[in-house]
Amino acid sequence: MCGIVAYLGDKHAYPILVEGLHRLEYRGYDSAGIVLLDDEIHLVKKKGKVRDLEDAAGGTPKRSTIGIGHTRWATHGEPNDVNAHPHLSGNGRLALVHNGIIENYAILKKALERLGHTFVSETDTEVFVHLIEEYQTRDGISIEEAVLQALNRVIGAYAIVVVDKEDPDKLVAARKQSPLVVGVGDDEFLVASDASPIVKYTNKVVYLNDHELAIITRDGNLNIRDIANNHVEPRVEEIDLKIEELEKEGYDFFMHKEIHQQPQTIMDCMRGRLNVQEGWIKLGGLEEYKKQILQANRMIIAGCGTSWHAGLIAEYLFEDLARLPVEVEYASELRYRNPVIREGDVVLAISQSGETADTLAALKHVKEKGATIYGIVNVVGSSIARITHAGSYIHAGPEIGVASTKAFTGQVTLLSLMALMIGYERGTIPLTRYEELISELGQIPEKVREVLAYEEQVKYIASEIKDTANALYLGRGYNFPVALEGALKLKEISYIHAEGYPAAEMKHGPIALIDENMPVIVIATNQSAYDKILSNVQEVKARKAKVIAITTKGDEQLKKYADYIVEIPETMEPFTPLLSVIPLQLLSYYIAVMRGCNVDQPRNLAKSVTVE
Ligand code: GLU
Repeated sequence: MCGIVAYLGDKHAYPILVEGLHRLEYRGYDSAGIVLLDDEIHLVKKKGKVRDLEDAAGGTPKRSTIGIGHTRWATHGEPNDVNAHPHLSGNGRLALVHNGIIENYAILKKALERLGHTFVSETDTEVFVHLIEEYQTRDGISIEEAVLQALNRVIGAYAIVVVDKEDPDKLVAARKQSPLVVGVGDDEFLVASDASPIVKYTNKVVYLNDHELAIITRDGNLNIRDIANNHVEPRVEEIDLKIEELEKEGYDFFMHKEIHQQPQTIMDCMRGRLNVQEGWIKLGGLEEYKKQILQANRMIIAGCGTSWHAGLIAEYLFEDLARLPVEVEYASELRYRNPVIREGDVVLAISQSGETADTLAALKHVKEKGATIYGIVNVVGSSIARITHAGSYIHAGPEIGVASTKAFTGQVTLLSLMALMIGYERGTIPLTRYEELISELGQIPEKVREVLAYEEQVKYIASEIKDTANALYLGRGYNFPVALEGALKLKEISYIHAEGYPAAEMKHGPIALIDENMPVIVIATNQSAYDKILSNVQEVKARKAKVIAITTKGDEQLKKYADYIVEIPETMEPFTPLLSVIPLQLLSYYIAVMRGCNVDQPRNLAKSVTVE
C-alpha cells in the first residue's frame, strides 16, 4: 500500500505534496514524510497522519519546486519517525519513497553492510536507496542508470520515486506490481500512486507499466525506459475524474457519503448496459470474449475481503440463473496453489482498486496456465484492468473510505447483469422470468433509496448494541455472503469481534457463544428457506440473544421474535443482497462513530492492498 506523490514544475512543491498526501492517505497512515530539494535535501517525516507531518514541518517550509512525499502502511519495521519515508542514502545525496516490499532486502543489506553501508531504519526500503547509491558512486553513473541497475537486483514489488541533490531538476520513477501514474501538465509533472493528487493540475496521464522507469526533467521531457534500457513511447491518456468526487461534500466521513451514493452508483453501473424496455443487457467490455464466457464449463472467481464476498454472491447468481458451475477462491490462496485449469474454464477477478496484489498475482498465475481472465474493477486504468483479456468497470467513482460500501454494491450489480446476460443467452432463464428479473433490477436504485430512509432506525439500534464485545451475523442462500460482509464491516471500523455464518451452520458451533449479551443480526429476507430461517431465529431467541432482523416489508411473523426490525422493500431473491447489505453498512458506520473510531481510516488497515 502506501501513497506516493512527487512534483516537478514551476510551483511551490510543498502544498501540492501535502494536498496529494491527504488524498492518498486512504492507502496508509502509519507515517508521512516529504523531501524538498534545492541544492540540499530538506527532509521532514513523522509517525502518524499527514496532519502530524504538517505540524512537524511548522508553517510553509522553504520554497522549492521539486519534491517527493509518502504516506506509509508499514510492512517492515514499526510505524515510527525513523522508519517513515522518504529514506536517504548513506551519503545524504539521494532520497527515495517506496510502495511495496523488497523480498531480498536481508541479503542485499548484508552485502551492503560488508561494503561499509550503515542503516538507520528497519525497513526494506532503505536497502533500495543504499543500493542505488552504491551503483552510483562505484560506477560514477547518473541517477537513472544507477536506479536501473538496482532494479535488476531487487526482488519484490515496488513503485519508487527518487531524487538526487546533485541532479536537482530530475525525478526518476519506476514500478513493478505497485501502481504509479505520471501526470503531464503544462510545464509541470506529478507522479502519484493514483490520479487523485494529479487531477487538480492536469487530466493527461501516463500509466507506467511493470518494469518501466520514467525519467522526468525540468525541461519538459518524459523519457520512459524498460528494465533493459530500451526506449518506450509514453502513451498519454485523458482521465475523467472530477475534484468534487474526491471531497466529503458535507458528510463527516467518506464512508457515510459513499453509503448514500449507492442509489446513484448502482444506476451508473447499469447505465447503457441494461435496457428494460427493449429487454437487453450489453456489457461492452466482455463483447470480444463473450463466446468464451457463454461456452464456459466452469467459472473460477478470485478476490479478497469484500470483493470475495461479492464473488460468493456471484456463485449463487451464476449457478441459479446461468447454470454455470462456479468456484470462489481467496486470491491469496489461488496464487500459490497448483489449480487445475481446464479448457473451457474462465477466471473472473474482482477488485475495487484493480491493484490488489494477491488478486493480480493470482490472475497472472492462471493466465500462464492458459485461462482466459476477466476483471471487474472500479479504478479505470488499474493494473487488473490492463492485464485481463476483458472486463467491466463498476463505475462507482472514487471510493475513499477504507471499508468498502458502494464498490461492493457496484460489484454485485455488475455480477447480476453478467449472470442475467449469460443465463439469457444460454437459455437457462425462461423469457418471462428474464423480463421480470431485468425489470426488477432496474428498480433497485430506487429501492436502495427507500432502505436509506430507515437510517434513523438503524442509528437507534446501533446505540442499543454499540457496547457489545461480539456480534453474530446469520444469513442463508444469497444472504449468507451478506452476513459475512456485515460482520466484516463491523470488525473493520468498530473493532468489535464479529462472525458471519450460514444460519443453519450456527448449531454446529457458534450457538455455544450465544447468551443474553450476544446481538445476533439475522438477514431474513429470503423467500426460499424462509421457514428455516424463522426456526434459526427461534433457536437463538431461546438462548436469550438480542435479535436484530432484516426483514421484508410486511413480514409480520418475524416481528414476534425479533427485538429490533429493519425492513427492506420486497424484491426478487437474487437481488436481496443489494438491499439487505445497506442497513448492515449503516449499522457498522453508526456503531463505529458512537465508539469514537476513525471510520475512514481504521487502525492497521489501508484501502488498496498492493502488498502480499
Ligand atoms: N515496505 C515498505 C515499508 O514498510 C513500504 C510499505 C508499503 O508499500 O506498504 O516501509
